[in-house]
Amino acid sequence: MADTFPLIDPFARAITYLRVSVTDRCDFRCTYCMAEQMTFLPKADLLSLEELDRLCSAFVRLGVQKLRITGGEPLVRKGIMTFFRAMSRHLDSGALRELTLTTNGSQLRRYAADLAACGVRRINVSLDTLDDAKFADVTRWGRLPQVLDGITAAREAGISVKINTVALKNFNENELFTLAEWCSKNGHDLTFIEVMPMGNIGGNIEGNIEDDLGDTTGEPQRLGQYWSLSDLRARLTERFTLIDLTDQTGGPARYVRLVETGQRIGFITPLTHNFCESCNRVRLTCTGELYMCLGQEDMADLRTPLRQSPDDMLLTDAIRAAILRKPKGHDFDYSRQKVTGQMTRHMSHTGG
Ligand code: SAM
Repeated sequence: MADTFPLIDPFARAITYLRVSVTDRCDFRCTYCMAEQMTFLPKADLLSLEELDRLCSAFVRLGVQKLRITGGEPLVRKGIMTFFRAMSRHLDSGALRELTLTTNGSQLRRYAADLAACGVRRINVSLDTLDDAKFADVTRWGRLPQVLDGITAAREAGISVKINTVALKNFNENELFTLAEWCSKNGHDLTFIEVMPMGNIGGNIEGNIEDDLGDTTGEPQRLGQYWSLSDLRARLTERFTLIDLTDQTGGPARYVRLVETGQRIGFITPLTHNFCESCNRVRLTCTGELYMCLGQEDMADLRTPLRQSPDDMLLTDAIRAAILRKPKGHDFDYSRQKVTGQMTRHMSHTGG
């Protein structure tokens, strides 16, 4: 049941969608996302599962209807099913409409049935290639068969799967049709994501470096990976007839239907497309920082009010105050290095 006043930002957007990163750890090291030798946060800085429950429940009371759990890799957080079970009470009460997650799929064989029992009906699985060797390259530590088996387990448990694929120049360009056809054959929606500016990722996909500027910060390398989704979309039209869909999820994706296969394909284009006007979401990190906008650095510390008092009054006030700071929109700019710091922390927004 929503609190008396739901969360409305200064631009009259109702905040109904919370993305929660439950850990910064991951069992993969995707080259565009993390350095191979990552320094993770001290465990003491992370919110406990009980604290995550209190925070999410406060948002649900304030009108959040959709909760997306992400990370890092959410399914590597110890005891994570306790948290999912706890959140499922909000589905049972009708306060929450959807409980979902974005995952790399590696742990799905183990958890799919439990997730389904908690009311999870749809998930996003990140998958950039269907080639074993390329998968091992791009994830560094991941193995494709394990992820494909995880996806099968999810389907067996009755969970529908949307595949998220980061579009990477000279990496998965030649798999465009293979990926679309595989998703069509297996009944998965598919969304392509433009690669976004991130912090120091220390390394890159082999053979994919266009270090034009001679810079070693990692940024020019990423420019080398950038494959614009307008180009990707144009390539799709070489084989398929595309119909624009007006589906409005409140999220950053725009959708088309492929006439020949009937499947839906999404495009998340933060660098070339503005989706801010319909933004209904905020993002919470695993240390309790609330980011009101993906592309801006302003954040509110919710861990302090959470820990200051056992009742939720201070926390609720802090959430309301933060929502009043939600900006109208954002603009990515590769030259703005400072944006990168926070991207690493909640890159997980892209799950759509
Ligand atoms: N571990 C989970 C997973 O793999 O889906 C959740 C976290 S992961 C950071 C969420 C999504 O962000 C994945 O789809 C991943 O591919 C995407 N991502 C990470 N870094 C990115 C970048 N630099 N540009 C675009 N998408 C990125």
